[in-house]
Amino acid sequence: DERIIAPDFSQGDTPEQSLRPLSLADFVGQKKLRSNLSVFIEAARGRGDALDHVLFFGPPGLGKTTLSQVVAREMGVGFRATSGPVIAKAGDLAAILTNLQPHDVLFIDEIHRLSPAVEEILYPAMEDFQLDLIIGEGPAARSVRIDLPPFTLVGATTRSGLITTPLRERFGIPLRLQFYEPDELERIVSRGAGILGIDMSSDGALEIARRSRGTPRVAGRLLRRVRDFAAVDGAATIDAKAADAALRRLDIDERGLDSMDRRYLRNIAENYSGGPVGVETMAAALSEQRDVLEDVIEPYLIQQGLLQRTPRGRVLASAGYSYLGLEVPATLSS
Ligand code: ADP
Repeated sequence: DERIIAPDFSQGDTPEQSLRPLSLADFVGQKKLRSNLSVFIEAARGRGDALDHVLFFGPPGLGKTTLSQVVAREMGVGFRATSGPVIAKAGDLAAILTNLQPHDVLFIDEIHRLSPAVEEILYPAMEDFQLDLIIGEGPAARSVRIDLPPFTLVGATTRSGLITTPLRERFGIPLRLQFYEPDELERIVSRGAGILGIDMSSDGALEIARRSRGTPRVAGRLLRRVRDFAAVDGAATIDAKAADAALRRLDIDERGLDSMDRRYLRNIAENYSGGPVGVETMAAALSEQRDVLEDVIEPYLIQQGLLQRTPRGRVLASAGYSYLGLEVPATLSS
């Protein structure tokens, strides 16, 4: 049972490519990040250099892949994409690197999942545009050094703390993506509705925006599902009422939380007296992967002020009790 608001990639999203903004000007939100990035791009172009290596970090679905494509486009260079788990051996990475054109963008998604042997190759490649390879085995083994064209590595990870310090330090431009504001998501939903030829009022778009967990990928997915309900119900224009009716049927509440979020919060309240409780315990209790809790579910609950992450574990915040309709314990309400 797929969660409709799970921001990670799922099969049904393939045509969403059409909703991807192609230029920085079309990219909505992340204002500060965008303006800094455009300065770095303009400066690199002015010098005739490759852009310095960029690390994007933040929860899934906020636009890391999209931005890396935008970077390549704005730089006027080629774009190659791969991901940490896909690069099994040092030789795989060597093959990719030696095929780059000067100034190309190489995007590595989930860069925290590179194996140590592959990561080792990446250091001199990033720093000196050089590849040190061992050819052959045993006494016949020798090392060769290959010069690479200057390129830009764009890495993406869900949390900056997941990648090793030596790797993190080799990125000149680390950028953190934030959850989007409802008015930004409203623009994203309206733009998407326009592209998909959906007749939607601005209050309809805002209703979807408010319930998309601050995440463009979720907004795009909800837009498609709301369209389906409206089509079957015979609604000509999707307004706030039609959007609300569809979102209720998808079990997404006023705040954009779904049944998994509610189970998470209720579990802490009812079985652990509000915490602190460790993430492994939560994962076992909810039969969910630890990564999904840490990357997808918890960041939004924390951002909403419903949950706190402390060194001793997860703790339900007073707003979390109120959300569940429970009395706020005296220790929290003061
Ligand atoms: P990530 O790589 O962080 O998981 P993606 O770049 O794949 O996220 O973005 C997920 C979806 O959200 C894409 O379909 C993209 O079109 C859309 N999207 C992301 N950011 C924006 C934005 N700022 N404006 C419009 N659409 C966006």
